[in-house]
Amino acid sequence: MAPRSAGPRAAVPHGRGSPADGTREKVAPRTGPDEAEDRPHRTKDLSVSGIDAISSRILEIQTTISSVSRGLTPTQTSAAASSSSARTAAGTAATSEAFGSALAQAVAAAPAAPAPPAAAPASTAKLDANGIPEGFAAYGNGKIPREALTEITGTGHRLWAPAAQAFDKVLAAAKADGVTIGITDSYRTYESQVDLAQRKGLYSQGGLAAKPGTSDHGWGLSVDLNLDSKALAWMRANGASMGFVEDVPREPWHWTFQG
Ligand SMILES: [Zn+2]
Repeated sequence: MAPRSAGPRAAVPHGRGSPADGTREKVAPRTGPDEAEDRPHRTKDLSVSGIDAISSRILEIQTTISSVSRGLTPTQTSAAASSSSARTAAGTAATSEAFGSALAQAVAAAPAAPAPPAAAPASTAKLDANGIPEGFAAYGNGKIPREALTEITGTGHRLWAPAAQAFDKVLAAAKADGVTIGITDSYRTYESQVDLAQRKGLYSQGGLAAKPGTSDHGWGLSVDLNLDSKALAWMRANGASMGFVEDVPREPWHWTFQG
């Protein structure tokens, strides 16, 4: 098989660490007067005490609610209706509750973000022309769902299925030869790549981390190994026959599945 195009493929064996602090939660705080409009499903905002403040808003969107209600299922419409009829004596409160209920259901029924594509079945999986596991490019580097990856048996480390299955064979063969191979890292999320780059520096600048979003760890293709001199020699003699190559200068721990 022809070698895949070279590029900055870097990593370090230690320091998988925790995801970069804060990188998962960089959502602008929702505060201030716009919150109710941004988060209409929070029906608790529509309590009786808030009715005066939002009554004009309710009137303003009555038309919207009517159209929403027409889109509800019979069960949902019935639920909203009974909620309303139970509170007819409460006047505006009933309107508010019906509004909250209908809107909450409408929000729940609204189309969610587009579902990610299904992972390619392992049985037919292969690398595409760019050396990326087929089906993974649509997710993006470091954005692969956990369920689309496969565990290297008994290790807790995950890779693209063919790579994981190949590494199972590496471990078994090494063990049969009396060689111990430790795994320090495998699939790496984008957030972890950012964290690593911040801590270890970019490989292109003399550091040990790939530019976030370009690491082969982010495609579930690379493992970082804990190898003593005997194990390193064993990997160099045997890894390629099982699909794993040492493909980053200065990083003898970093091995990538190339099919
Ligand atoms: Zn690595």
